Amino acid sequence: MKQLGDRKFLPYISCNKIQQRIAELGNEINIAYEGKELVIISVLNGSFIFTADLVRQIEIPVDLRFIRVSSYQSEQSSGKVTQILGLTGAIKDKHVLVIEDIIDTGLTIAEIHNQLIEQQPASIEVASLLLKEDVYRGKIKINYLGFAIPNRFVVGYGLDLDGFGRNWPEIYQVV
Ligand code: 5GP
Repeated sequence: MKQLGDRKFLPYISCNKIQQRIAELGNEINIAYEGKELVIISVLNGSFIFTADLVRQIEIPVDLRFIRVSSYQSEQSSGKVTQILGLTGAIKDKHVLVIEDIIDTGLTIAEIHNQLIEQQPASIEVASLLLKEDVYRGKIKINYLGFAIPNRFVVGYGLDLDGFGRNWPEIYQVV
C-alpha cells in the first residue's frame, strides 16, 4: 500500500504486465507503419514514461515531438478550451501518432485531434496507455490501447496526483 496525502493506493497493473503490453503495441505499430516514417507527438507530462518505453519498441523511423496542453474555462463559451503548447515543425502530409497516458471523458484527446487535423497530416492515430471506457464518450478511435480500466483514480508510471507519484514504476489504484 502507498499513500499520497490522505489517499491510499494499492498496486493495480504491474511493471511486467505494462512492459508485455507495450511490446505488443510496438509490434502492432511496426506492422501498421512498415515502410513509412512516423511523427510521434507525446502529450506531457503524464505520458513521458509510456512514451519512453513505447518508442523503444518501434523500429520504423520516428520523429519524436512533445506537446503540453493547457485547459482553461472560456468566457465566450461554456466549455473548456484546450490549447496545444510547444508543437514545433510542420506535420502536413506526415503520418502522426499521438501518445497519451490516460483518456477519461475524451475531451482532451478530441481537442488535440481537431487541432492537429487542421494541419492536414497524411494520417493521424492515437495510442493511449489507459482508457476509462465507462466514462469515455468520445468519437475518436483509440488505435493502440494498453488497458481499459474502470472509473477509479490511478497513479504511477507517469501519472500523478498533484505532481506526485509519477515516479512509481507500476500503476496504482486509489483504495
Ligand atoms: P479527459 O479530457 O479525457 O477527460 O481527461 C484526460 C486527462 O485527465 C488525463 O490526461 C489526466 O491528466 C487526467 N486524468 C483522468 N483520469 C485520471 C486518473 O485516473 N489519474 C490521473 N493521474 N490523471 C487522470
